[in-house]
Amino acid sequence: MTATPSHPHLEPVLVLGAGLMGRLLAWQLAKHGHRVDLLDAGPPEGSSSAARVAAAMLAPLAESAVTEPNVVAMGQYALPRWRELLQQLPDPVFFQQQGTLVLWHRQDAAEAQRFNGLLAKTRQTLPTLPAPENVHGARLASLEPAVAQRFHQGVYLPEEGQLDNRQLLQALLKALAQQGTVVQWHTPCTLDQALELQQKRGGWVLDCRGLGAQADWPIPGPTLRGVRGEVARLHAPGVTLQRPTRLLHPRYPIYIAPKQDHVFVIGATEIETNDLSPASVRSTLELLSAAYAVHPGFGEARILELNSQCRPTLPDNLPTVRQAAPKVLQINGLYRHGFMISPAVLDAVVEHMHSGTQTLAAQLQLCFQVNTLQPLA
Ligand SMILES: Cc1cc2nc3c(=O)[nH]c(=O)nc-3n(C[C@H](O)[C@H](O)[C@H](O)COP(=O)(O)OP(=O)(O)OC[C@H]3O[C@@H](n4cnc5c(N)ncnc54)[C@H](O)[C@@H]3O)c2cc1C
Repeated sequence: MTATPSHPHLEPVLVLGAGLMGRLLAWQLAKHGHRVDLLDAGPPEGSSSAARVAAAMLAPLAESAVTEPNVVAMGQYALPRWRELLQQLPDPVFFQQQGTLVLWHRQDAAEAQRFNGLLAKTRQTLPTLPAPENVHGARLASLEPAVAQRFHQGVYLPEEGQLDNRQLLQALLKALAQQGTVVQWHTPCTLDQALELQQKRGGWVLDCRGLGAQADWPIPGPTLRGVRGEVARLHAPGVTLQRPTRLLHPRYPIYIAPKQDHVFVIGATEIETNDLSPASVRSTLELLSAAYAVHPGFGEARILELNSQCRPTLPDNLPTVRQAAPKVLQINGLYRHGFMISPAVLDAVVEHMHSGTQTLAAQLQLCFQVNTLQPLA
């Protein structure tokens, strides 16, 4: 493959952070013809990014129980957009849109009632969301035979999706290499250093360092924090699930995201801390016990990995694009929805860079704090 030629009238772009947002933006901007340089503090495997640990569920309606309608709308926008984006990648990435199944134990019916109430409220605001379906008996058994003996009712949320985050990160790297985009690994960079580079080379700086950008969102402004998530990656040949399954529980709500070849991501805790230490015994016990309660076949599963990472989160738990200086955008706060919404954020940022407008951001109510119109890539 030959490298994509850069267009002389398009300005160069320096992207800080090659996690989810950084790789997506670098790839798409190079595709448009920008010369792109990408820096990351960690290695190419992405082991210092939230993106590598994530379950990568694309579940706007399920998430509406814990987020705002604008994030749900971004998630709805992103589902078809993911299909388009994945088709442009050089390697296949596992992607499915078989919906989400939400289950609960009989004693947690009150949780289910609360959850259903929240879904109904979301659908009043966003009536184009697919309708949830209450499923029982034979219908539940036909959807997800493996759980039908232990659960007698659930809610099916059609059209929700998931993808394989690690295949995606790898495929994006291959695409970047084919474009001739330079990526420097093990190269931590501060915003001040990036501004110095911008003085010399001109062009744009896109700060996509996730939680690594914390020092550049200082108090008294909106402060970036970590929300720790712990997950287990299991190989369970005795378990077959067709789609991500969520268990409602007052203390241990979990999800089980089935990837290819009987690999399952079980997650995730949600703890207010920047602590990046390994998963705790307590969290692991809770996650694995809850998974075992959904399907005893997990008892024979092999633990491939126990992981922890922190979700980069702003005070309102919403994503934000903020202009730190002329042609310097900080893109952050993707919290627990990075995969679900990143195509929307990507398109909004590219639109702004190329036309100076924020039409998509306004349509999706993505917080976009820029001072002036800057047409001009
Ligand atoms: C346990 C868990 C489960 C999740 N599940 C889901 C899910 O099911 N669905 C969903 O939509 N989202 C999920 N997420 C959220 C998603 O992973 C994040 O929202 C997303 O990864 C954020 O993307 P980002 O590019 O902003 O940050 P990251 O993906 O964290 O990438 C940031 C990058 O910046 C680099 N960096 C840091 N500091 C510097 C520096 N000084 N210089 C250069 N580079 C630097 C890091 O090395 C990293 O590669 C989950 C997250 C976690 C932790």
